[in-house]
Amino acid sequence: MHPLTNVLKYNVALLLKPEVGATLGLDVDEVHQTLGDLKVDYVRGQLLLTRTTRGVLATGQFHTALQVECVRCLEFFHLELQVRMEEMFTFTPAADPIYFIAERWLDLRQPLREQILLTLPIHSLCRLECKGLCITCGQNLNEGPCSCDTEEIDPRLAALKKLL
Ligand SMILES: [Zn+2]
Ligand SMILES: [Zn+2]
Repeated sequence: MHPLTNVLKYNVALLLKPEVGATLGLDVDEVHQTLGDLKVDYVRGQLLLTRTTRGVLATGQFHTALQVECVRCLEFFHLELQVRMEEMFTFTPAADPIYFIAERWLDLRQPLREQILLTLPIHSLCRLECKGLCITCGQNLNEGPCSCDTEEIDPRLAALKKLL
């Protein structure tokens, strides 16, 4: 087996023999991971594996970052996220929960992807004060003002100006 395939997958053989309640704490520190259709810059945090009667409970807190598109200016930027996880991995496949320990390997990638998707804001902004795009010419206003005459947008203001 190629060593890279072990990234974000954990061999839980050590946890299979001990009694229920036995725990295993692990540091997670991986860069450039592909979680299904998600590409993350890094995943860092703590993972705690606890032996239960039905399998292994994986709890963790992670920092991660990924590229997302700003809803205002449509530029891609790196969004940092804090992700919590609490997932049950059963010894045998079960409909609920959906994760199970295959050949003693606990694969964190799929549940991590799910948690990231749940944590992602619906409207991601590259910055709070993102100016967005000019509705007339499409220029990214974060890069500077465009040459559109903004006074034309409100004809009432223009009419008022003529009176002055
Ligand atoms: Zn933006
Ligand atoms: Zn413009």
